[in-house]
Amino acid sequence: MGRRKKIVQECERLMDKPENIRNIAIAAHVDHGKTTLTDNLLAGAGMIADEGEATRLMMDTEEDEQERGITIDAANVSMTHEYEDTNHLINLIDTPGHVDFGGDVTRAMRAVDGALVVVDAVEGAMPQTETVVRQALREGVKPTLFINKVDRLISELQEGPEEMQQRLLSVIDDVNELIRGMTEDMDDIDDWTVSVEDGTVAFGSALYRWGVSMPSMQATGIDFGDIIDLERNDERQELHDRTPLSDVVLDMVCEHFPNPLDAQPRRIPRIWRGDDESDLAEGMRLVDDEGEVVLMVTDIGIDPHAGEIAAGRVFSGTIEKGQELYVSGTAGKNRVQSVGIYMGGEREEVEHVPAGNIAAVTGLRDAIAGSTVSSVEMTPFESIEHISEPVITKS
Ligand code: GDP
Repeated sequence: MGRRKKIVQECERLMDKPENIRNIAIAAHVDHGKTTLTDNLLAGAGMIADEGEATRLMMDTEEDEQERGITIDAANVSMTHEYEDTNHLINLIDTPGHVDFGGDVTRAMRAVDGALVVVDAVEGAMPQTETVVRQALREGVKPTLFINKVDRLISELQEGPEEMQQRLLSVIDDVNELIRGMTEDMDDIDDWTVSVEDGTVAFGSALYRWGVSMPSMQATGIDFGDIIDLERNDERQELHDRTPLSDVVLDMVCEHFPNPLDAQPRRIPRIWRGDDESDLAEGMRLVDDEGEVVLMVTDIGIDPHAGEIAAGRVFSGTIEKGQELYVSGTAGKNRVQSVGIYMGGEREEVEHVPAGNIAAVTGLRDAIAGSTVSSVEMTPFESIEHISEPVITKS
């Protein structure tokens, strides 16, 4: 059996275990390294043989994007990662990093429960960082932080351990200030600030494929001094071999992001204003794969063969071919032609996709990004608000 087929089978097996699922987005200011980090994760998860350009093509599926060199459409990819002897299914939604596409970023946030915020160590938190953190928190999505391009602090700016630590702490402080400011009045959210000690911050170099976090440093024995020495001596391959970025980040994802069973009871009241005593509400809170089907469409893509594909989060029930589903805001029902999951830029058809997962569905001809698709008529999800760029006030 081919490697890809094996991965698809493993994803299918894990789809039925919501406790082992993490639905995540990577969000960043443009050029802070989201695409390069995504390459690392896909390669680390065995999705592609080699890191680099091949994956860029996998994620940036639209010709227009490749021409412009920026990611426009939110693409989806599923991968597996073993953490603490348990295999996890990680559904990653790619978010556009460009300011013009704020609406897409928010839509991606609706589908996920965790947002990995990437910040360039040299530039620090930027306006778009603030926007993505805001969008995540508003949707009840938990943040963690990856500080990227640390190689530049060492090799270009020639910073020593003290200076480096100061700089990393100041990035963390800035991000925490945003998180604290946004969550203060949210009584359904505990302290979501990030910290090195808790393991909710990782840092490294997506370009040279190494990364560390407090737990990873404890496990590998690597310290700041080693990192600086290896990076300065151009022994980046060794640094990658000893502490690969993908493992560090994916471990952080599995440990610190909520699974759908933990996330949905908190998120549903925030994004859905229907009757919270109803069976429907109960089904969504419990991630009940036998409940009524409820899908929130976050993205419509075009497949040259299959036509329009609606991608989104299944909050309740199980989506299968042949189902007749209501689409919010339209009359009548649409018939599901196929269901699938995303592997890289490609869709793989599967038998069914249960609650807690990201599904790619064909046949929903009336659906648009933002549609609520369901087996019974229901109150649609809250509309997704576009958050515009904050006014830049640099002190
Ligand atoms: P995106 O716009 O957030 O997707 O950013 P990209 O991943 O496309 O990266 C933007 C630029 O930064 C590219 O030229 C990358 O090669 C470079 N880059 C990304 N990560 C790193 C890193 O860790 N170190 C250095 N030195 N450059 C990086």
